Amino acid sequence: MGDYVNRLMAQLVAKNPGEPEFHQAVHEVAESVELALARNPRYVDAKVFERTIEPERVVMFRVPWVDDRGDVQINRGFRVEMSSAIGPYKGGLRFHPTVYLGLLKFLAFEQVFKNALTTLPMGAGKGGADFDPKGKSEGEVMRFCQSFMTELQRHIGQFTDVPAGDIGVGGREIGYLFGQYKRIRNEFTGVLTGKGLNWGGSLIRPEATGYGAVYFAEEMLKTREETLQDKTCLVSGSGNVAQYTVEKLLDLGAKPVTLSDSGGFIHDKEGIDREKLAYVMDLKNVRRGRIMEYAEKYPGVDWTAVDPAKHYNPLWAVPADCAFPSATQNEINAEDAINLLAGGVYVVSEGANMPTVPTGIEAFLDARILYGPGKAANAGGVAVSGLEMAQNSARRAWSRGTVDERLHAIMQAIHDTCRSTAEEYGVAGNYMHGANIAGFTKVADAMLDQGVV
Ligand code: NAP
Repeated sequence: MGDYVNRLMAQLVAKNPGEPEFHQAVHEVAESVELALARNPRYVDAKVFERTIEPERVVMFRVPWVDDRGDVQINRGFRVEMSSAIGPYKGGLRFHPTVYLGLLKFLAFEQVFKNALTTLPMGAGKGGADFDPKGKSEGEVMRFCQSFMTELQRHIGQFTDVPAGDIGVGGREIGYLFGQYKRIRNEFTGVLTGKGLNWGGSLIRPEATGYGAVYFAEEMLKTREETLQDKTCLVSGSGNVAQYTVEKLLDLGAKPVTLSDSGGFIHDKEGIDREKLAYVMDLKNVRRGRIMEYAEKYPGVDWTAVDPAKHYNPLWAVPADCAFPSATQNEINAEDAINLLAGGVYVVSEGANMPTVPTGIEAFLDARILYGPGKAANAGGVAVSGLEMAQNSARRAWSRGTVDERLHAIMQAIHDTCRSTAEEYGVAGNYMHGANIAGFTKVADAMLDQGVV
């Protein structure tokens, strides 16, 4: 195989210029997949990986809407339908000013392997728009969502493509999107996940990604006969994933001490307890405020504003045992990774997608810490989305206990698969290779069965 990755990457970069996050995501997986290709020439002959890096379909569309001042605004919407090898396209929608095609291709690509790992029959997609919900009124968010769905609805469906939330798309946005889909299509189906509880949503879906990332850390720690009890934990972000990561950490006796947003981070040495978490949930989900207000409310809490002149994020230099990056891609650079290791962190469970740059991952792997890559550690969200689809199809609603039990079992299964696959391929303890290879072989086998499509 030798220079397989170099050749593939040269072609990918030439064909997809200006999409660094997509290149980064493919490069990481390609290095693992090379190990699988060496053992299975059928994957090579059928060009399975080369097909996997080309989206099955990309839709890009205009999203016009009128703001509160009566001015016309135009955003760009996307849906990347990456792979339907093992089920309908499935993956979230992101509303953030940084959204562009390359970012969504990276996220859709990651989703292929993540969804395969969940054990559920889900293909992969991702979508969104360069719209910033921050600072917009309720009316503006609703009108934007309605315009976005007016186009998206012709491309999705319960058996075709089932979007969910991601950054900037929470319960409120899913509600407006679902309402518009139902109105145009005149059908009440499980076309979106992350729905409200009284209109087809699943218990535990909002909690699932954060809970899952903590369950994954718990499983990694078990391999060293340790638990999360009394562990000091760094959490970044303060949105959906971060909030429920903190909640599950508290359930398991750990001590979360940080949260952040794009303005900076808080460090609460006393620990973020349940009362403080309830404050954060109200601040972020209802009042839509900034995390800085936490430091104003609770005395003794340090607030550090983002300093664009700094090459590193001081959040990752806070001494701790475990880290749960839960904000966004590439939030841990090489220097941050070194700071984390120097501060005593030996468990990293990625709630966000691709939060660590490749050199940072290398530092974690070299140090032989317990490193759980996002496509495995944050798969709990899409797994419970899969359970929401199952409940919608059966027209039933499972109890909180049932869904949480299934989520826990799925995260344990993902952990065990990553671990045993890494061992099987001679890279024991490397969850990154384990996740990439296990996800890839499942999709690749389905593609071989289905012919050249
Ligand atoms: P969210 O509720 O919108 O929260 C995102 C948080 O990250 C906010 O605190 C936000 O701060 C911060 N953030 C976002 N972009 C940032 C940037 N460029 N720089 C600094 N901070 C930034 O989103 P979420 O659903 O929790 O998603 C967080 C991560 O988890 C993403 O990587 C997402 O892809 C991944 N993920 C989510 C799910 C899910 O079920 N939601 C599932 C799997 C993976 P501001 O408010 O200041 O922007």
